[in-house]
Amino acid sequence: MSIPVFRFAPSPNGHLHIGHALSALLNYEAARQMGGRFLLRIEDIDQTRCTPELEADMLEDLEWLGLEWETPVLRQSDRFDAYRAGLQKLSAFGILYRSVLTRSEIKQFVADCVEEGNDWPKDPDGVPVSPNDGMVLSDDERIERLSSGASYAVRVDMVRAMRYLKSSLTWQEAGSSLDALAEAPHPVSCDPSQWGDVVLARKETPTSYHLSVVLDDAYQGVTDILRGKDLYHATSLHRLLQQFLGLPSPVYRHHDLVLGEDGKKLSKSTRSTSLRSLREAGSTPADIRQLVGL
Ligand code: GLU
Repeated sequence: MSIPVFRFAPSPNGHLHIGHALSALLNYEAARQMGGRFLLRIEDIDQTRCTPELEADMLEDLEWLGLEWETPVLRQSDRFDAYRAGLQKLSAFGILYRSVLTRSEIKQFVADCVEEGNDWPKDPDGVPVSPNDGMVLSDDERIERLSSGASYAVRVDMVRAMRYLKSSLTWQEAGSSLDALAEAPHPVSCDPSQWGDVVLARKETPTSYHLSVVLDDAYQGVTDILRGKDLYHATSLHRLLQQFLGLPSPVYRHHDLVLGEDGKKLSKSTRSTSLRSLREAGSTPADIRQLVGL
């Protein structure tokens, strides 16, 4: 049997907080307990928000926590060719399209729809799904924008993609706590359609989080994806992409989130829970472990 491969995949677009510490430590300890490997992956596709300084701080915070990882570390900004190839593979199924709608057009369309008393679906994150371009623009307008070099997003035509599937999809979910690692996984039914026509790339960036995470987990041979429950529903989408790209599906383990005092998900911009500020205020790595319940 192959050995388990875990990964922690942060984005250096801010400083790590105690929620990241929980995820990183869980992955690290799970890999150790199961005699597996622990990888670190830098998810820096957003080249405007991710900076070398933040990346250096992030590595320093993780070292301070006591983590050790395999090198060289995979950086998503080095993988744009692989993402382009993945996009092309998906495109060959005829399930992608270039959407020229601007954010404000989408917002306006949804607002008009709601004002007229109609329901408009929201994705599992609570964000209204995007209308198809054809609901807002004429074919001529769309073609005109594309030929004049307008920006676009590459979206999945979810209705078409779902029609392609011969059978329903499931993913395997297993325990996320360190004493539940050996529990047998159970299948969870996927419902990718709740995400609507999700963005997989943009004119200037050949990928989005969803596409690169799926390609990289397969590329790195990740067997166990242990991450926060905020990504639970995104797994439906990841399974869909794995299916079209012919990639294996790892076991998923979604852990509870560390919430702020307001009961909300922590944000990288809140200083009080960043590992840096806790460290400056005198916390030790052992304190952080205790804080996150390990
Ligand atoms: N870069 C993602 C994040 O920071 C990782 C998500 C994942 O583990 O799939 O949320």
